[in-house]
Amino acid sequence: MSDAFGPPPSPFVTGLRGRCPQCGVGRLFDGYLSVREICESCGAALSEHDTGDGPAVFVIFILGAAVVPLALAVEAAFGPPMWLHAVLWSAVILGGTLALLRRLKGVMVALHYRHRGPGS
Ligand SMILES: [Zn+2]
Repeated sequence: MSDAFGPPPSPFVTGLRGRCPQCGVGRLFDGYLSVREICESCGAALSEHDTGDGPAVFVIFILGAAVVPLALAVEAAFGPPMWLHAVLWSAVILGGTLALLRRLKGVMVALHYRHRGPGS
């Protein structure tokens, strides 16, 4: 996967930036979560490395591990009404999901591309 220009880019860097795992330049996504068919820059086949809903599991685990202890700590410290918990944590979970999902999907697609290789 390396070429005459040096080693391939890090799958973590390209995934977090939403860039092609082969060249690191072209865009990985066509929309929010749709993986492009091919890279606009280098022509790498990207859609065959689409990880589908896999990244959602990691988002659930990460946000669950963060929000549950925070909610318990807020309840113990301030004892707010339940409606405030519902509003607050719904907003945190929605914002966290929007912030993490695309980036984690980018990393998973890039890791799949790196370890399965182009054309597999
Ligand atoms: Zn590319």
